[in-house]
Amino acid sequence: MSDKNLFARVAERLGTYQQQIIDLQRELVSRNAVGPDHGGPGEVEKAAFLAALLRDWGLQVDNFPAPDDRVAGGERPNLVAWVPGQRPEKVWVLSHMDVVPPGDEALWDSDPFTLRVEGDRIYGRGTEDDHHGIVTSLMAVKAILDLGIEPPRTIALALVSDEETGNEKGLIHLLQEQPQLFAPEDLIIVPDAGSLDGTLVEVAEKSILWLRLTLEGKQCHASRPDLGRNTLRACAHVILALEELAREFPAENPLFRPAVSTFEPTKKEANVPNINTIPGRDVFYLDCRVLPEYDLARVKEKVLALGEDAARRFEVSLQVEPVQELSSAPATPLEAPVVKALERAIREVYGREANPRGIGGGTVAAFFRQKGLPAAVWMTVSQTAHQPNEFSLLSNILGDARVLAHVFLED
Ligand SMILES: [Zn+2]
Repeated sequence: MSDKNLFARVAERLGTYQQQIIDLQRELVSRNAVGPDHGGPGEVEKAAFLAALLRDWGLQVDNFPAPDDRVAGGERPNLVAWVPGQRPEKVWVLSHMDVVPPGDEALWDSDPFTLRVEGDRIYGRGTEDDHHGIVTSLMAVKAILDLGIEPPRTIALALVSDEETGNEKGLIHLLQEQPQLFAPEDLIIVPDAGSLDGTLVEVAEKSILWLRLTLEGKQCHASRPDLGRNTLRACAHVILALEELAREFPAENPLFRPAVSTFEPTKKEANVPNINTIPGRDVFYLDCRVLPEYDLARVKEKVLALGEDAARRFEVSLQVEPVQELSSAPATPLEAPVVKALERAIREVYGREANPRGIGGGTVAAFFRQKGLPAAVWMTVSQTAHQPNEFSLLSNILGDARVLAHVFLED
């Protein structure tokens, strides 16, 4: 399988890149790549920096930009950097350049767009999500280039836009406009989610269904409930009636944790502002994470039937509207070469057994899977993505770069 000697040399080389990792993170953090949906400038500046760096390493870098007049230059960049291998089959690592806004800056201990290093921790917006993916894949490639190694497979590093706000200008655009780039025999790794110990390899997703439930009754003074129709009381009964969903859709799939579909009431909109008014309108939301074996249309029908039945008893009307609906793609098989290659690499580098399984959804890998391209989502996380004081661990970046290098060097 892998050339042990070659891998050992690359792994050792990577150990000398600590300062380069910090420097690269510093450059990336300083280039604000918040997308225009969140009022940011987009990825243009970060992409220009990365393209120049990769060309400086001698790599061919293609750009497949998606038009978007909300950003300077009118385009959202999608880069692919190529390391020619002995064979045309590719191993892909897809990371995203955009970041989410810092949020309330008062919650940050330092400027989100200025790198701060404290021991093993590298702080700044994007350090984990998704600079971790960018830096680990670039460093693995750098070590291979610096040692003059020609990898067995061609390595393709995709650095895309718009992951945080829907992927239309990123991976979706790439798959639509350049479908020839990807082949089912390619290994596709998406370092954009994972677990603290680096063993979670995500291969499947539940379908996501977010529903808004609106109850209409009649508002009145709380001293005369007989004159109104109380939607909050009806709401409580509707929520209890929806507990039945778990029994209607009982399938278990051990790929997932939890192994069952889940149906959680979550957000509740405010109703009346004062205590002595009976509310005549209530709105709440249901977050459903449904196993791929079930059709979302059936779930929606059941929610409406159960909810209407409960609401009717209080002479309250119920409207059910989808807010988000994403049917999951077929799972990446557990025996897919990309899963096996990651399992071997994780065992070699971390001495741990990988745990390939499904998650509650949704990652960008779903778009690959919908096209019949087996993709695996994997990285070692600090679980600080999207949070104030986001950080990534230098030790995890080094370890994960070694895992990617192991995959790059396997025949
Ligand atoms: Zn991400």
